[in-house]
Amino acid sequence: MSVKEITTYHTYQNGRPVLNGLNDPALGVIDRRATCATCKNTYTGSGGGQNDCPGHFGHLQVSNIYTYLYLFDKVYINLSINVLFL
Ligand SMILES: [Zn+2]
Repeated sequence: MSVKEITTYHTYQNGRPVLNGLNDPALGVIDRRATCATCKNTYTGSGGGQNDCPGHFGHLQVSNIYTYLYLFDKVYINLSINVLFL
């Protein structure tokens, strides 16, 4: 599902997207003059046009495991329901 690993937090350098950064061209385009590096489509701004790039997922590796306790009960309930009905 992921098309690119994000390894740097930089977005632009000298007006161009940084490769492996948060605005890598492989993740999709929002500039009408640019072409997506993954699907070779462009962005027309029409909102679902035939040749619009839908955007693509990237991923990053975190060095530590983080637990977000606020969502723990919601994740637990969701998993319980899904496991129960599988
Ligand atoms: Zn694309």
